[in-house]
Amino acid sequence: MTLPVNRRNFLRMGAAAAAIAPALTRSSFAAAGAPAAAGVPAVGYIDVPANVALLNINEFPSGPTPAAVDIMHKMAVSGNRYYMAETALFTKELAASHDLKPENLSIYAGSSEILHFTALAFTSPTRSLVTADPTFEQTWRVAESQGAKVHKIPLKADYSYDMKAMVAADPNAGLYYVCNPNNPTGTPVKRSDIEWLLANKAPGSVVLVDEAYIHFSDAESVIDLVGKDKDLIVSRTFSKIYSMGGLRFGYATARPDLMAKLRHYGVNSMATTAVQCAKVQLADKQLIPLRKQAMADTRNRTFDFLTKAGYTFTPSQTNHFMVDTKRPGAPIINALAHHSVMIGRTWAIWPNRPRVSIGSPADMASFQTAFLEVMQMPDNKLNALTHPYPHLIQTHAC
Ligand code: PMP
Repeated sequence: MTLPVNRRNFLRMGAAAAAIAPALTRSSFAAAGAPAAAGVPAVGYIDVPANVALLNINEFPSGPTPAAVDIMHKMAVSGNRYYMAETALFTKELAASHDLKPENLSIYAGSSEILHFTALAFTSPTRSLVTADPTFEQTWRVAESQGAKVHKIPLKADYSYDMKAMVAADPNAGLYYVCNPNNPTGTPVKRSDIEWLLANKAPGSVVLVDEAYIHFSDAESVIDLVGKDKDLIVSRTFSKIYSMGGLRFGYATARPDLMAKLRHYGVNSMATTAVQCAKVQLADKQLIPLRKQAMADTRNRTFDFLTKAGYTFTPSQTNHFMVDTKRPGAPIINALAHHSVMIGRTWAIWPNRPRVSIGSPADMASFQTAFLEVMQMPDNKLNALTHPYPHLIQTHAC
C-alpha cells in the first residue's frame, strides 16, 4: 500500500488490514518462528547466536500478524504525534468488550507496571502480601521493598491454590496475588476458588488476578466481577498470545477508586504503534482460537515426548511448563544453553523443576534432542559447565 498517511487514510487502512488479518494470521502461525510479516525476517536476541531456541521467558514464538505490522509501519511515519485520543478511544472499546465502563479500565505499557503499582498501593509494613509459591514473583519484590511481609503459600499437590491457607496466613492482608493460569506451572486457578477468596478475605483487602496467560487456557476469567464492585483488580497483557512483549501493551480493570490508587504512581502516554497493533489484533477474531490451538498442539507433542522419555511435568494449559529433571535444574539449564536451547529458570521451592517456554515446533524439536543428550550427562560433567550467556540470567529473569 502506498497511500500517503494522513489520519483518514490511516483509519481506512486499519479497517482493510483488519479484514485481511485472519488468513494471514493462519499462514504466519503455521510458520511460527520463521520469517514474519511483509517479508521481513524475524530476529532473535542481539546477544545470543541466531540459532539458539529461545524458550526462556515465555515469549510467543512469532511476531504480530502481518496486518498489525503493516499498520505499525504506517503509524511510525507519524511518530511525532502523541495521538492520545486514540488511546482514550481504545480504552472505551476494550472496556465495552468486557461489558465494563471506561472508568473501569486503564491501558499500560504491558502489565508489569500494573503489578508494580498494585503492590505499591496496597502493601506496606502493616499490610502484607499473600501469594502462592511458586508463582510470578514481581509483587514479592515490590512488597519487600516497601517493608511488607510476604506470605508464600505452597501450591497444593494438584497444583491448585490453597486459598484457605492464603487467608489463614493473613486474613487482613493488603494484597492477595493470584496468577491465573499460574506462571511458572501453567496450571489454571478455579473461578470458584477466586470467588471463595473474595468472599472470605477481610473487607478492604484487595485481590489482584493476573490473567497474562488466560487466552491459552480454558481458565475462566473473573473480569466480569470487576463490574460487580468487588475488591478486585484484573490485569491483562498483550505480551503473550498477542505476541507484543517487546511492543508493550497491557491493561488493568478495577473499580474506579482502586484504579485511582494505581494512577497515583504514574500515568504515561502509550506508544502509538503498540495501540494500533493491539487494536488490529483484537479485531482479528481468529487470532486467539488459531494460536490457542497451535500452542496446544505443540504442547501436547512435547508432553507426549516427555512422557515416553519417562519425565513428568506440570499439566500446563499455557505456553510454558515445568519439567521434573530429577536432579537440580540449574546445571541442566546451563548445559541446554550449550546445546543452543535456552530454557527458563527454577524457583527456590522447586529446584528440580526448571520452566520451559513453548516455542515453535522447530524450537521444540531442538529442545527434545538437546534434552535427551543433556539428561544423559553425569553430574560431574554437568556441574562443570557455566552458562554461556551469563549476562542474560538477570535481565531475562521473567
Ligand atoms: N504477569 C505474568 C504472570 C508474567 O509472566 C509476566 C511476564 N512474563 C507479566 C505479568 C508481565 O509481562 P508484561 O509486562 O510484558 O505484560
